Amino acid sequence: MMKVTHLLARPFPPSPLSRRVDVVVIGGGAAGFFGALRAAEGGARVVLLEATQSPLQKVRISGGGRCNVTNAATDPAVLATKYPRGGKEMRGALSRFGPRETMAWFEARGVRLKAEPDGRVFPTTDDSATIVDCLLSEARRLGVEVRTGARPSGIARTQEGYRLALKEGPLDARAVLLASGSNPNGLALAASLGHKLVPPVPSLFTFEVKDPRLDGLAGVSVERVRAKALVGSETFEQEGPLLVTHWGLSAHAVLRLSAWGARAFHDAGYRAKLVVDWLPDLPEPALRDRVLRLREHEARGTLGAHPVATEIPRRLWDRLVEAAGGDPSLRWGEVPNRGVQALLDQLKRSAFEVTGKGPFREEFVTAGGVDRREVDWRTMESRVAPGFHVAGEALDVDALTGGYNLQCAWTTGWIAGSHLAQARS
Ligand SMILES: Cc1cc2nc3c(=O)[nH]c(=O)nc-3n(C[C@H](O)[C@H](O)[C@H](O)COP(=O)(O)OP(=O)(O)OC[C@H]3O[C@@H](n4cnc5c(N)ncnc54)[C@H](O)[C@@H]3O)c2cc1C
Repeated sequence: MMKVTHLLARPFPPSPLSRRVDVVVIGGGAAGFFGALRAAEGGARVVLLEATQSPLQKVRISGGGRCNVTNAATDPAVLATKYPRGGKEMRGALSRFGPRETMAWFEARGVRLKAEPDGRVFPTTDDSATIVDCLLSEARRLGVEVRTGARPSGIARTQEGYRLALKEGPLDARAVLLASGSNPNGLALAASLGHKLVPPVPSLFTFEVKDPRLDGLAGVSVERVRAKALVGSETFEQEGPLLVTHWGLSAHAVLRLSAWGARAFHDAGYRAKLVVDWLPDLPEPALRDRVLRLREHEARGTLGAHPVATEIPRRLWDRLVEAAGGDPSLRWGEVPNRGVQALLDQLKRSAFEVTGKGPFREEFVTAGGVDRREVDWRTMESRVAPGFHVAGEALDVDALTGGYNLQCAWTTGWIAGSHLAQARS
């Protein structure tokens, strides 16, 4: 039964601290809050432990401070393709609580959302604080006891559930939700209960590339390229925008390659060969015809003044011409046959050496975590330790950019919370 006090607003942290509750949630991120709120709504007495002084920090910085809450795509089969790890499991989970339900959840609590043309969903305020404030006020309304600066140093099974070791003394719970993201301390708690961990590696990173063709071009972007990464013995291919940065290459084509190839990149020390097709919509024979036509009809015009395609920014075109052994001041009529071939090679398969992972930038997630097979995805309950649940990035699940990572946190947090509500005394 839900206790009346759960419905009263009260500040964090309540005093005195509880020593025995129905549910302990470890981690105050998106997944932990969603799990805690859902369990409390179902009548469970919930304590949420957050190691830092400020919960929901990643939500706050997400989407460049705007918080890309979810994606407007709602078909679980389509959504599942956005998860390089966990797509199969997420498909079922998303059919229970997906973007539609997430949006309805926030809107029912007064948060207005908007979808951008590319499908990303943000609060209409364009401010992640709207989402953070909603979650914090819901936690107050439902009487979730949020303890900050609280990091359990150990977990042990008891007859009634679990005992967590905290510096102020033990905390007993009938059930536990681990939602500590990729933090090694949190994952160590799962391992101590017998869970197998898939080693965490970064996903969604940019590429460090040092190449004269890119020097001084930081900020130049191409709307759509096809990029192939040869990493160790594996090959990954993706399409999308490409951006030249101060240290190499970024934007969706690169982020998608980094996500699908996350483990291969890690194993190869972030060294790879990247082959870029700058004009993926133009088959090579058609491109060759276009080049030959330019040579014939613009014989007196220069390569610099008559680029082969408007899709390629002028400064980049000049560099590709130079890399092909030419010069932007060269007249089209002076281009020899081998120059035509060299130009086609640059346009259709510019090869770059990736020498590392770019520094932390806009979006960053971790692949790896608790093995997906060790969790029952209908409840998020561990198959190894009954009563122990796992949600969010603590699982070996990660997604491409577009709101899918937070959606994983909302979905798995909600499913776990629904099951945890049954732990109410
Ligand atoms: C810069 C950036 C921008 C992003 N933008 C987006 C975006 O716009 N859209 C999107 O979908 N995804 C985005 N992501 C990814 C998304 O934020 C994460 O996938 C999501 O927040 C994961 O939620 P979580 O609750 O599982 O984990 P986390 O958000 O990592 O939360 C875990 C919490 O647990 C706490 N914790 C850790 N260990 C312990 C412990 N032992 N005891 C107690 N507490 C502990 C941590 O302090 C943290 O508060 C972004 C990520 C980054 C880094």
